[in-house]
Amino acid sequence: MGKPPFDLLRKRGWRGLMAVLLAISPLIGKAEHAALSSIAEWWPAIRKAIDAHAMARLNKAVRNTAAPDDLLRACWTPAELRGSAGDRSIQKQASDPSPPERISYQKQALLPEKLGGSIRYVKPRNAEKWVALTFDLCEQAHEKSGYDADLVNYLRDHQVKATFFAGGKWMRSHPVKTMQLMADPLFEIGNHAWTHGNLRVLNGPGMYDQITWTQSEYEILREKLLQSKCAARFGEKAAAAIPPALTTFRFPYGACNAQSLAAVNQTGLVAIQWNIVTGDPVRGQTAQNIARTVLNQVQPGSIVVAHANGRGWHTAEALPLIISGLRKQGYRFVTISELLATGEVFAAESCYELKPGDNLRYDRLFKAGAP
Ligand SMILES: [Zn+2]
Repeated sequence: MGKPPFDLLRKRGWRGLMAVLLAISPLIGKAEHAALSSIAEWWPAIRKAIDAHAMARLNKAVRNTAAPDDLLRACWTPAELRGSAGDRSIQKQASDPSPPERISYQKQALLPEKLGGSIRYVKPRNAEKWVALTFDLCEQAHEKSGYDADLVNYLRDHQVKATFFAGGKWMRSHPVKTMQLMADPLFEIGNHAWTHGNLRVLNGPGMYDQITWTQSEYEILREKLLQSKCAARFGEKAAAAIPPALTTFRFPYGACNAQSLAAVNQTGLVAIQWNIVTGDPVRGQTAQNIARTVLNQVQPGSIVVAHANGRGWHTAEALPLIISGLRKQGYRFVTISELLATGEVFAAESCYELKPGDNLRYDRLFKAGAP
């Protein structure tokens, strides 16, 4: 990646390279046609190189599970890690749409072409029985939402890997819980927008802020964790164990349009949807129903969506049924990065719950998302 066109592509992207080519084209006169046709000839190789670079970056996000598990124990007592039943409660508040204390985040490289679109599931190589459990930590501007301690404790007690899609404001109002999830080698964190904005309705800066403020908040808290005394004693090992930036994104309300999908992908984030809906925010949903849905619909590479912010009904109660049932069927639990690194992605051009168009009513119900 040391050659100038590659550096340019890495820093400015394909558009940057085109802009330079257009700018210098009058100078190269007759050579222009020849230059552009060789670019066209080189393009597959250039794209391959960009994708390889981007894949290498994403693979770095796959947790090194050999990383110090003791980081978690060194920083918190068992009681602090277990939290309490009260953590689950959701409190109404005056609307607070304020930004994080610092808006700066690591710019990501271009996304590999094959990871574009709204990812529904992954086909693992050799049809390995892998499944990704994902839990959303949504928080709107007018609330402090919860943290389902029972759910996280169960995952920890049974060594189940999982991915949490955290709202940026959720991370800000739950800094300790966020750092605990970050420091735990079982878990991975993804971006779930700042205040759960509806990115099918928002546009312009309002849309970008939802994405980039959340990237910033994660990096602020990662820095705080690494600077803390308990982490400092692990030196580089701690930094190597915790991904420097978020690399995946989940659309609030599962809602996107071509513009917001492009914005997420251009930020270098992989848009992760699901192919199994637990329906856990529906009042009256039972643990048995949730488990039945997952166990009946699972296939290798499935992505399951549920909630860990106190909005899931009986989610924690369903976990023992889901986990023992899936293990009996021979399934292994992986994080989203692990899943992406190993298989062929199935992506859609739009975002939906189970069928294209099935969540359009949310735009009427939630508009731009709760202010
Ligand atoms: Zn959500």
